[in-house]
Amino acid sequence: MRMSSLFVRTLREDPADAEVPSHRLLVRAGYIRRAAPGIYTWLPLGLKVLRRVEDIIREEMNAIGAQEMLFPALLPREPYEATNRWTEYGDGIFRLQDRKGADYLLGPTHEEMFTLVVKDLYSSYKDLPLSIYQIQTKYRDEARPRAGLLRGREFVMKDSYSFDVDDAGLEASYQRHRDAYVRIFDRLGFEYVIVEAMSGAMGGSKSEEFLAKASVGEDTYVRCTLCDYAANVEAVHSPPVPPVPYDDAPAAHAEQTPDTPTIETLVDHLNERFPREDRPWAASDTLKNVVFSVRYPDGATEALAVGLPGDREVDAKRLEAHLGEGVVFEPFGEEDFKARPALAKGYIGPGALGEKKAAGVRYLLDPRVVEGTRWVTGADVTGSHVIDLVAGRDFSGDGLIEVAEVRDGDPCPRGDGGTLETARGIEMGHIFQLGRKYAEALDLKVLDEQGKLVTVTMGSYGVGPSRAVAAIAEGTHDELGLCWPREVAPADVHIVATGKDEHIFAAAERIAHELDQQGVEVLYDDRPKVSPGVKFKDAELIGVPTIVVVGKGLAEGTIEVKDRRTGERHQVPADHLVDRVTGIVRA
Ligand code: ATP
Ligand code: MG
Repeated sequence: MRMSSLFVRTLREDPADAEVPSHRLLVRAGYIRRAAPGIYTWLPLGLKVLRRVEDIIREEMNAIGAQEMLFPALLPREPYEATNRWTEYGDGIFRLQDRKGADYLLGPTHEEMFTLVVKDLYSSYKDLPLSIYQIQTKYRDEARPRAGLLRGREFVMKDSYSFDVDDAGLEASYQRHRDAYVRIFDRLGFEYVIVEAMSGAMGGSKSEEFLAKASVGEDTYVRCTLCDYAANVEAVHSPPVPPVPYDDAPAAHAEQTPDTPTIETLVDHLNERFPREDRPWAASDTLKNVVFSVRYPDGATEALAVGLPGDREVDAKRLEAHLGEGVVFEPFGEEDFKARPALAKGYIGPGALGEKKAAGVRYLLDPRVVEGTRWVTGADVTGSHVIDLVAGRDFSGDGLIEVAEVRDGDPCPRGDGGTLETARGIEMGHIFQLGRKYAEALDLKVLDEQGKLVTVTMGSYGVGPSRAVAAIAEGTHDELGLCWPREVAPADVHIVATGKDEHIFAAAERIAHELDQQGVEVLYDDRPKVSPGVKFKDAELIGVPTIVVVGKGLAEGTIEVKDRRTGERHQVPADHLVDRVTGIVRA
């Protein structure tokens, strides 16, 4: 690759729409260009990195015996209808019609197609286990495409699927994939954590995510300060709380609490007018009831109330994960309240939500609201609250819901006395045991050893190579530019020839050629009329791990070798340069 002819233009200015460093730098260094919101063109440098990431994934998948294949992105509606995902995906997929009016979609993920192709070709337990995969372009009409490649509407995914005849087989296939993922992420060269995950819209049971540690990440995960528990915040359960005896609890009593529509005003009022003897009232003594209007992908709607301790908010991401893909919700607005006069805004209580169902709302409770706990909560009358309302005695809900925010310092669900710490990450990979959901929906059965038809059990394993390119850039860049780990860099060495002297260019040319012969991939800045300053800036921005500067030193027989990451420079005798650089590259 020669800078004089390489299809690249580096930019000094940040693109206006870039929110995060990786996006800014990938555009400025000439790796990608935006084609439409969440849709990007790969320029030669970017494509090199993408291909290197894909190759690492490919090697590790092949190493566990998974076989590569390729499905079309343009898919018929029927299989997605059979699993109900045509509907479940809601606005999340691109749907289109052919000239005859038949429905198609652009594949957001391919469980259906993989299941069907196995059904098509295999029929016996002897054919299993089987793992097949593809590296392919996916389409999702994301509600919030953001941060360049991190959340695209067109993106690259490696998706593999395992097929087994029984649960033990699935467990083994899952473990093999997990091990391969560990090797992939170790090689990709950035910091990551493996966390327990929600299985989301896919159904199924066991599921883990590989998250890149990154402050710009959209995922929050928790780790225990004592044990090895780590989970996506969506998947965190609060530790079970034992019921509290309530035999001597006083009867519930409604009190006048004018102008107390918020938890804060309520707590102040309680402490002023109804002081406790043991301690002051706290927000955690109150039961807050938050009502949402929810719309499901099939068009159905409902009002859903969440009852939780008043010191916690409903975490929208946890609620989203709980409700599933394609479900949209928003807090009750003025119109919703008008339509349900039983709900007194700011004073909503279990009276209207619970057994009496006056408001016709589904009422789910946080697990901290266990039997015997005592609450101050709305009396369903403006300006009034109930005190000493006992869960299980005075009210109950229609079930439990775990959507309250998780905080630093919350107890570890394993109950080992450790506490949780939260941090942000980018989801890089997701592995899960789908079980028989897809095989059942699409009727994938094989004959077992006894000649009986059994439903196949499946696993599904995804990694996002295009997202990985951005995440690696995000995790490794510095203030000067990109800074690729060697395994994924677009070249091994960036040679910069400086000055006007022809023999400098001739020497640089020779070095580039010799390195190339050694199998070292070279990006050579051979531009004759570009100043050294510009060339250095470009080299730093582009981020190839080793920079070789052929310049003035050549007169004394030395060439500079610079490490892009550490900035360390060495003057190397010109005769040793090729050996030295080859050594660095192969180290
Ligand atoms: P997210 O929660 O970030 O939307 P997801 O749970 O929808 O991700 P999966 O359906 O498990 O993701 O897809 C597998 C992998 O594909 C993800 O781990 C991620 O690396 C990648 N991926 C998913 N959505 C996108 C996207 N919009 N842009 C780029 N990569 C994506
Ligand atoms: Mg998603």
